Amino acid sequence: MKGKQGQWQHLYKVLSKPGPYSDEDWVPGVETVNALESSKILVIGAGGLGCEILKNLALSGFKDIHVIDMDTIDISNLNRQFLFRQADIGKPKAEVAAAFVEKRVKGVKITPFVGKIQDKDEDYYMQFKIVICGLDSIEARRWINSTLIGMVDPEDPESLKPLIDGGTEGFKGQARVILPTLSSCIECQLDMHAPRPAVPLCTIATIPRQPQHCIEWAHQIAWQEKRKDDSFDSDDMEHISWVYNAALQRAQHFHIHGVTFQMTQGVVKNIIPAIASTNAVIAASTTSEVLKIATSCNPYLENYMMYAGEEGVYTYTFEAEKKPDCPVCGNLARKMTVNADMTLGDFIDSLGERAEAQLKKPSLRTEEKTLYQRFPPQLEEHTRPNLRLKLRELLEDGEEVAVSDPAYTIDFRYRLNFQ
Ligand SMILES: [Zn+2]
Repeated sequence: MKGKQGQWQHLYKVLSKPGPYSDEDWVPGVETVNALESSKILVIGAGGLGCEILKNLALSGFKDIHVIDMDTIDISNLNRQFLFRQADIGKPKAEVAAAFVEKRVKGVKITPFVGKIQDKDEDYYMQFKIVICGLDSIEARRWINSTLIGMVDPEDPESLKPLIDGGTEGFKGQARVILPTLSSCIECQLDMHAPRPAVPLCTIATIPRQPQHCIEWAHQIAWQEKRKDDSFDSDDMEHISWVYNAALQRAQHFHIHGVTFQMTQGVVKNIIPAIASTNAVIAASTTSEVLKIATSCNPYLENYMMYAGEEGVYTYTFEAEKKPDCPVCGNLARKMTVNADMTLGDFIDSLGERAEAQLKKPSLRTEEKTLYQRFPPQLEEHTRPNLRLKLRELLEDGEEVAVSDPAYTIDFRYRLNFQ
């Protein structure tokens, strides 16, 4: 331990005490410190959460960190993504964040990758000890979750990569620890992150009830009618103003109050305000879990912590259960109750909305036949007539269907029970 004092002495003190996992006669120290320093950690996302996570990992003594992010820095990021400066606008987040933390924390190496997580293969992910996510996209989370589960080889413990996931939305957030195939995964918990119910287009087009409906009308319908040659740009102030004025007129016509410019911006950009302190809370809790798992210095979170800061402060920890019918980590198909008189086309559309599926471009088959296949075009043409048929004409009650979607590497299995 000589020469490893100074800045890190307090950390080494923590890592040199017998923890709940150590034998009575074993005094940790060199081994736990080595585990910390040699663990290669992957951070996915270098935005609001990612900046905090990178800073925390570096200040916790990790030396070999990689970061993936496909975005470039926008002026609107600067209030909370504190690794970025005015002069960095337009540059890739992963590169700027890596360089900044390397400069500030001596001895840490941060390797950036500017691109999508889908650009990398299993060999790439296999090199890491732990993966930590600070993402705002459910789709990206589902992709890394299914990829890490697919990599697990029961014969090789090194193939199991703990996934620590953080997420925030306004004043709310969550941190979770996922041990692929062993504990509840992102997909098991998918219905806890249901998409906001979409307002049916007919409500928007006919009788609006809320100011947001008037904004959606102006954005989706009026724009198409009056300005279909201009492609709508949510960053163009003239476009937002136009939508705002159209929405305001419609709202007045239906005696609806409350349409504001700010609300218009929020609706068309689908903005949820980002709160810097929520990111700090969630990043702190996820990085603590990385430190605990990498060094075994303390028991880790089992397995889901939610944080609610919108009214006072409330946190709650519980153990999310692994679902035997999880379409990714389970070995049973997930049950889904459907109306047998629904057409296959309507059912496929509904898969995008249903909390337990959320698949946007699904192709479906049963063990016997292909129900609908998007690619290649010949097969699409061949299976297209099925879209008009009712489910009862295509399937038995309780039959299993495999659903594939270009956004994922695996198939999802559902058992369809007729209502
Ligand atoms: Zn699962």
